[in-house]
Amino acid sequence: MKTLLLDNTDENIAKAAEILKNGGLVGLPTETVYGLAANALEGRAVAKIFAAKGRPADNPLIVHIADFSDIERFNLVREIPESVKLLAENFWPGPLTMIMKKSDVIPDEVSAGLDTVAIRFPSHPTAQKIIKESVLPLAAPSANLSGSPSPTTALHVMSDLSGRIDAVVDGGMSDVGLESTVITLAEKTPRVLRPGGITLEQLRSVLGNVELDNAVLHQLEKGAKVSSPGMKYKHYAPKANVILLKCSDSEYIDYVNEHANESTAALCCDEDIEILNVKCFSLGKRSDYSAQAHRLFDELRKIDEDENIKTVYSRLPSLDGVGMAVYNRLIRAAGFEVIDLGKM
Ligand code: AMP
Ligand code: MG
Repeated sequence: MKTLLLDNTDENIAKAAEILKNGGLVGLPTETVYGLAANALEGRAVAKIFAAKGRPADNPLIVHIADFSDIERFNLVREIPESVKLLAENFWPGPLTMIMKKSDVIPDEVSAGLDTVAIRFPSHPTAQKIIKESVLPLAAPSANLSGSPSPTTALHVMSDLSGRIDAVVDGGMSDVGLESTVITLAEKTPRVLRPGGITLEQLRSVLGNVELDNAVLHQLEKGAKVSSPGMKYKHYAPKANVILLKCSDSEYIDYVNEHANESTAALCCDEDIEILNVKCFSLGKRSDYSAQAHRLFDELRKIDEDENIKTVYSRLPSLDGVGMAVYNRLIRAAGFEVIDLGKM
């Protein structure tokens, strides 16, 4: 199949909506990353997402809506907990996905056999227009091949999925750059399953007690039960070996320069570029965690394009604010390998 790369015009949004109504697949821009959308109410359409991405069948999808009232309009859940209403008032539309008990209209392909469904109301105007125009809730995981970094531009989507999906709508580079925060409200205590653009601090400021799932910062033991199936897969891994260094700024510079050769590179900050003797892929200013989130996947893809690079050194990110989301992605890219220079 030939994949259409569509500009962000009203005519093309109508075309994308038509494809979705007919059971096709469309890559669309959201503020987190690009999504690969299908009609969430049609199991056969959703199954095509898994085939196009090579996504494991036990990894459920997020359902995207264009208004809070869509949850009831499409009858997506058994009940809407008060906590969901509170979080929606504060953070929707935006990079927050909320998990609730699902209703019978959600096909098993979406929930991967769980009794819950993940729902998000994205803020990107193009995503909202496509959802509204199609008059459907849209199941949409990230629009990458499973295992490669999530796409933050339409060209990333084309490079992974051209020939495998019907169309991509180009809405510019994604603002946040990392996938949404995922929180479950289907259990007694709210729990973050994946950190993202809405921080743990922000969630606690609204709900009080919010737990952090063990899989967010730690490697799961083999066979352990996971609350969020996506967390058990090796995600976001570039071809080069990513090594995280737990160290001070000066230790980082010294270590990377001592290991400098044609096959090493640094995933670093703007402040390091002048003083490092290796190829630098900067995520932005050292204190700007949002910039680091915004650029992370794009820089990982650039590293992949350079065949010479075999090893990439990065600092272990901070856990503060959006830093936790960067930490969560990078520690997976590194296969949980951290060198603690303080202990050497
Ligand atoms: P992606 O859309 O590629 O960003 O992945 C969606 C993420 O949300 C994955 O990590 C899924 O495991 C998680 N997710 C989706 N639905 C559920 C659910 N019902 N329960 C737990 N996690 C979910
Ligand atoms: Mg994904």
